[in-house]
Amino acid sequence: MNGTKLFILPLGYIENDIALNLLLHNQATTENKHKPAEWHRVPSFAILIQHHHLGNILVDCGSHPNAMERSWPEETRKLIPLFRTKEDMLDYRLSQLNLTPADINLIILTHLHLDHAGGLTYFEGTDAGKHIIAHADEIKQALYEPFINSTQIAKGYNKTDFEGLNEIRFDPIFESTVLAEDIELVWLPGHTAGTIGVLVHLPNDGSIFYTSDAVNWEANLYPEIKLSAVFHDSIEMEKSMIKIKWIQRRYQAKLIFGHDLKQFNQLILSPNNHYS
Ligand SMILES: [Zn+2]
Repeated sequence: MNGTKLFILPLGYIENDIALNLLLHNQATTENKHKPAEWHRVPSFAILIQHHHLGNILVDCGSHPNAMERSWPEETRKLIPLFRTKEDMLDYRLSQLNLTPADINLIILTHLHLDHAGGLTYFEGTDAGKHIIAHADEIKQALYEPFINSTQIAKGYNKTDFEGLNEIRFDPIFESTVLAEDIELVWLPGHTAGTIGVLVHLPNDGSIFYTSDAVNWEANLYPEIKLSAVFHDSIEMEKSMIKIKWIQRRYQAKLIFGHDLKQFNQLILSPNNHYS
């Protein structure tokens, strides 16, 4: 028996065209050649694991604190606007659990897209900020894309999320990695080169597998695999989804998808409660 707990920290909502999350959604046909685009809302969140010997582990850190004020360019704010209340800021969500960014012992970034790594600035100068876990391929891609393009945001990576950060360093992983006897980081390439999922085995609630954006929402995985429109490698993305289905069956795991509003509305959310 161990005392590991898992908290889901709501960080607001993003709105966008459904076709971003489901490739070729509303595809036109001979009967209907002008199907309209559809706009929808998806959640953004981080996960805090309170682990019996690794301490406070934060999985992802949301968008930049000034995303909609100045960090994201205007075009991005129109394509994927982010809506947050004061409570939806990462530091506020941590304070609801009597924590500050300095109390985080370990940070895992499932990938470095702007809605998952933008909060890195909270961890400048902290111990956890000096050894952030991410996949080596992800670190390379995230720093490569925005710095070879003239645009501020390239392939989902926001240059200002990484510019001028003080004392932020990474501890790369190169493959799926066992972090503790009850936590595994699973390499799920495809959405990006180095997307990782986090599999946690809890004493009461069983296995929980956070897929991050390897699966945006349930409709990407069931009843059959349907890709999202945001991928680095579509073949690898499909293989990763098959891997997720195997892991789900192996552990009878509860999957938590990257951006699934219907699922999110049924999750146990911090600060009211947590998984254990
Ligand atoms: Zn992403």
